[in-house]
Amino acid sequence: MSDTREQGFVIVVGLGPGDKNLITPEASAALAAATDLVGYATYVARVPERPGPTRHISDNREEIDRARHALTLAASGRRVVVVSSGDPGVFAMAAAVFEAIDEGDPAWRALDIRVLPGISAMLSAAARVGAPLGHDFCAINLSDNLKPWGLVEKRLALAAEADFVITLYNPVSKARPWQLGRAFEILRTVRAPETPVIFATAVSDARERIDTVPLGKAVAERADMRTLVIVGSSRTRTIAREGKPPFVYTPRKTPAEPSP
Ligand code: SAH
Repeated sequence: MSDTREQGFVIVVGLGPGDKNLITPEASAALAAATDLVGYATYVARVPERPGPTRHISDNREEIDRARHALTLAASGRRVVVVSSGDPGVFAMAAAVFEAIDEGDPAWRALDIRVLPGISAMLSAAARVGAPLGHDFCAINLSDNLKPWGLVEKRLALAAEADFVITLYNPVSKARPWQLGRAFEILRTVRAPETPVIFATAVSDARERIDTVPLGKAVAERADMRTLVIVGSSRTRTIAREGKPPFVYTPRKTPAEPSP
């Protein structure tokens, strides 16, 4: 009995942005060893089918319950892989698993728990256009499901003032139609209208669409739930190309401010 218990684990893996070639070999090996897969239906569906593992699918909003379920299964000796898109530590399931451990059954702390990194949306989106994250940047989740909207506005304003390149995860959803428009309004008060804005939708899927537009012309309706938005810093440049989308990059050097 105790032998079986010792074999249980929870491995939290990131499946990358969509293309199966962007799943790491390490994550694939974990998936191959699983007796149970836990995750949001859309992500579990992305795991290549093989006979064997039980698929526990759930609604996107039930993250903490899903994490507790995974831990309960592992405590009974199951080999559980929890799946997220992108990287599991970026606005995803890994933090939910640790919240559940922090607040839950003390015995869960002794379990074999591991997190395997994945390619996050901002990294795959950035690579498509060039190197917009070549200098200091930050990531902000525009969803106000788990934090007050006032805090999002404060972070946007301060990140803009600090001249970070800003990546925006979860820019819109059916329940949150106006937040991205408001974010652009805030950024326009600080950033120049020609600042490049990248809308990267469904990166690495058949539906992939990438557009780079100036901030002055960025329209929130361009984004959907599978869009990652990158707003350049004052240093971000575009390189125009004949008949091809521009490259976008942020130079690695920022010159010293002129002394007053
Ligand atoms: N853990 C994930 C992020 C989950 S939050 C990661 O590291 O990528 C979900 C948000 O991620 C979406 O609203 C969207 O902003 C972004 N996203 C996820 N997959 C994407 C893709 N293939 N293309 C563009 N954006 C994506």
